Amino acid sequence: MLDAIRWDSDLIRRYDLAGPRYTSYPTAVQFHSQVGTFDLFHALRDSRKALRPLSLYVHVPFCANICYYCACNKVITKDRGRALPYLQRLEQEIQLIACHLDPAQKVEQLHFGGGTPTFLSHDELRQLMAHLRKHFNLLDDDSGDYGIEIDPREADWSTMGLLRELGFNRVSIGLQDLDPAVQRAVNRLQSLEETRAVIDAARTLQFRSINIDLIYGLPKQTPENFARTVEEVISLQPDRLSVFNYAHLPERFMPQRRINGNELPAPAQKLEMLERTIEQLTAAGYRYIGMDHFALPDDELAIAQEEETLQRNFQGYTTHGHCDLIGLGVSAISQIGDLYCQNSSDLNEYQNTLAAAQLATSRGLVCNADDRLRRAVIQQLICNFSLEFAAIEQQFNIDFQGYFGALWPQLQGMASDGLIALDRERIAVLPAGRLLVRSVCMVFDAYLEQQNRQRFSRVI
Ligand code: SF4
Repeated sequence: MLDAIRWDSDLIRRYDLAGPRYTSYPTAVQFHSQVGTFDLFHALRDSRKALRPLSLYVHVPFCANICYYCACNKVITKDRGRALPYLQRLEQEIQLIACHLDPAQKVEQLHFGGGTPTFLSHDELRQLMAHLRKHFNLLDDDSGDYGIEIDPREADWSTMGLLRELGFNRVSIGLQDLDPAVQRAVNRLQSLEETRAVIDAARTLQFRSINIDLIYGLPKQTPENFARTVEEVISLQPDRLSVFNYAHLPERFMPQRRINGNELPAPAQKLEMLERTIEQLTAAGYRYIGMDHFALPDDELAIAQEEETLQRNFQGYTTHGHCDLIGLGVSAISQIGDLYCQNSSDLNEYQNTLAAAQLATSRGLVCNADDRLRRAVIQQLICNFSLEFAAIEQQFNIDFQGYFGALWPQLQGMASDGLIALDRERIAVLPAGRLLVRSVCMVFDAYLEQQNRQRFSRVI
């Protein structure tokens, strides 16, 4: 059993640096336009030859209303007719990609994200899933992890019934905060009843796992009212919880300009919110998985972490890191072997490129040997909170201390501060360092010094 996390305000203040979330290494900031469809076809061929299992991500960019805190790639529109031309191009993309893969490659994981996937009508959802089934080897026996992001304002019992019938067995529900004043300040009015109805439906229909997303640091939030939200959420008993730190970057994300900066909680209040949330969740039996994620001990993520098989990719923590990840839709990212590639983030460009029967890959990166090594190190730390040097030495044929010798003074500093335990054989992230695990990962990031850290949010 993993040790619990330990709250250490002093360490948090000292190591709360802006940094990446490491859903990939190198991060998407390093992607460049020299990577294109040629690289994608090459990677798909390797995937087919190795018959690697697949994880599909499908991006539906539309939302009917804007949430002011949003930093996602989305298109705000009340016009449901906009979905149709998009779906036509998405179907074309599915076909173009699938013909380079082998029908024997099983789709172990499927995720619909957005935007709001349930912006699509029932008929559109049916047709999209039928198209995916026609071109990919989706599992029919409910053994895959097939998830979808749900906005309770855009889903009811019949939607949930349809999704279950289509093969989805996991849901991730956006909730963020239940306080009406906070909801008004971020333009997301969503009652507890709406959320509860979706959860009741998911349980009744035997969805295997329910995740709820919360955000702390929103305008009008206080430690007291956020604690009430967390209490209500615990009573809903989700299997997993994501508790994100709101990063106010209005110069980068237009909708955030509509948030009144004077209404944001002070850093000390945000710290208190996080500390109380951790106390509440821990007392309710949730385990800290890492990087904003909590899960009940019998959840697959918690079990995988205990068995040291947990991995991390663009979908966050996953038990399917061995799969090639195929991103479909505007702005979607794929990770196939050593290739990362991303579709155009511009809806018109995405649609026009596919209309010309070409894939919309716009940028990416092919990992070199050093990237692969550092990726493995960062994965180990962020997923398992520990790193055995011998395993890395064997896998990459290096002498760990020789290769990373220049980092030793920094690691020793972290060790004497109580963030990590460091000896000749391993690094172990201590309970007081677990909330700050990405600060430890950042030591191994070769690109960080070259780039502007302001692009990233803070650790906490
Ligand atoms: S937070 Fe979600 S629902 Fe709100 S605008 Fe962004 S993508 Fe749409």
